[in-house]
Amino acid sequence: MNTAIPKLKADVVVVGAGVIGSAVARELSKYQVDVILIDRNEDVGGEASLANNASVICGYDFVPGSLDSQMAVAASPMFDKLAKDLDIQFERIGALQVALTEEEMDTLVEIRHIALKNGVYDVELISGDEARRMEPSLSEYVLGAMVIPRQAIIDVFGLVVAYTENAADNGVRLMLGAKALEICKENGVVRSVVTTRGEIETRFVVNAAGLHADALAQTAGICDFENYPRKGEFFVLDKKLPYKPKHIIASVPTALSRGKLLTPSVEGNLLLGPTADNIKDKSDTATSRQGLAEVLADLQKKIPAVSSRDSVTQFTGLRPKRIPDELSIRAVKGVSGYIEANGSSAGVTVSPAAAVYAVELLKRERLTLVRKPDFNPIRRSIRKFSGATSEEREILIKEDSRYANIICRCETVSEAEIVEAIRRGASSVDAIKRRLRAGMGRCQGGFCLPRVIEIMARELHVPAEQIRKNEPGSEYLTGPNKQILGERGNHELLSV
Ligand SMILES: Cc1cc2nc3c(=O)[nH]c(=O)nc-3n(C[C@H](O)[C@H](O)[C@H](O)COP(=O)(O)OP(=O)(O)OC[C@H]3O[C@@H](n4cnc5c(N)ncnc54)[C@H](O)[C@@H]3O)c2cc1C
Repeated sequence: MNTAIPKLKADVVVVGAGVIGSAVARELSKYQVDVILIDRNEDVGGEASLANNASVICGYDFVPGSLDSQMAVAASPMFDKLAKDLDIQFERIGALQVALTEEEMDTLVEIRHIALKNGVYDVELISGDEARRMEPSLSEYVLGAMVIPRQAIIDVFGLVVAYTENAADNGVRLMLGAKALEICKENGVVRSVVTTRGEIETRFVVNAAGLHADALAQTAGICDFENYPRKGEFFVLDKKLPYKPKHIIASVPTALSRGKLLTPSVEGNLLLGPTADNIKDKSDTATSRQGLAEVLADLQKKIPAVSSRDSVTQFTGLRPKRIPDELSIRAVKGVSGYIEANGSSAGVTVSPAAAVYAVELLKRERLTLVRKPDFNPIRRSIRKFSGATSEEREILIKEDSRYANIICRCETVSEAEIVEAIRRGASSVDAIKRRLRAGMGRCQGGFCLPRVIEIMARELHVPAEQIRKNEPGSEYLTGPNKQILGERGNHELLSV
């Protein structure tokens, strides 16, 4: 036995700090159980959870009776309180699903029937003219639309950070950079989880490892499904556009995908996408000329003013497409104490309900759950300078003069916010970027990156060369600039 690696103990180990795992950890933190949430990455946020449409859907078009439908319909109303308690940006802006052909109009009628079967009664079919009155930038070719008032947008990364911060405030231990290598069982009962940071003795494990949940299940010899990546490519458009949809503009779905969307983000950008391509490589997050062209061509039919000239950046998300089923939250026969929570096409949406469901399953697996009398559901986010009024800005600067030092000019992020994010655990430039948007504006970090590195080095008490983009090996700097210039200068002089 390797004595250098500590052996830990927990009542429950949750694998995966994406939106599902972190929601489960927070739900468990309401009870008197000792929980460890682990992730192989150096930050929380997940993988699929980092790159998606960032919408909370009301479940209107899911297969009636499916777990996905039940979870989405149940979860949608939970978000109003959740967003307040966890202090995250969430807006019920509604959606218009627009039809361009008579065939698509017929499909909308069918989708409305499905919505009613799913218990979503507030959808409504309207004419093309009515749709254009709601959204003047819509094409003259839009024949009609379905209004889906409860569709919402959310800060997904903020949600995951909030779930984990609140879980930690209520006692959950977080282990990052810890890959689960094996779920060990004994006589059909979970015994431990072996990780790259040591073995954790536990009776209960929740597999919320996203795309990699199948590989983890295999280590316990209980894998009867396969996850493959469905790739979705996006454009992010600038905040300043000559047109600005107020609603999510959705397409009528095809057999393969839910269709492409124009989604306003809570930060004020417009997301265009996604494509939906089944691929094999679980690490292929490259964007492609072809995929992005497909997104543009499709969405320009709905809003002709859409242009790639307004693009600030592009990204790709990989959704775990589970075979055979979609969402699967279940105990598995033959292994007591093991819960799988995986495979939703709308994991962000279902997360609060899926967490309650997973914890109920743990209870059925005989986890003793006694509610904590002092559970605190409230968590506050970092106070942002950008959204504050002039009066609020004055107060912030009076409280902390570093609010007056703007580091990211595109997104108006101050030094005080960066220092607070570091205090809360952000340890890489991406971690700062995702929490505060420093580097996400027009210049994509061209101006603020060196200043963010400088602040991080100062606050973390490490040399600037150790500050990295995200995972180990992604350091930006190799040494002090002058020293390198001096060496090169000498070398060049000698060779002249
Ligand atoms: C293009 C696209 C658009 C989408 N749009 C929406 C939308 O608008 N609304 C919505 O609700 N949903 C949407 N989704 C779906 C949603 O993003 C996913 O369902 C959700 O993010 C899945 O969350 P997760 O926690 O299961 O997985 P992830 O976020 O992938 O998290 C899994 C975590 O497990 C960790 N992990 C894996 N293996 C191990 C291991 N062995 N040990 C330790 N850690 C491990 C990973 O590092 C990762 O952090 C979209 C998805 C895509 C791709």
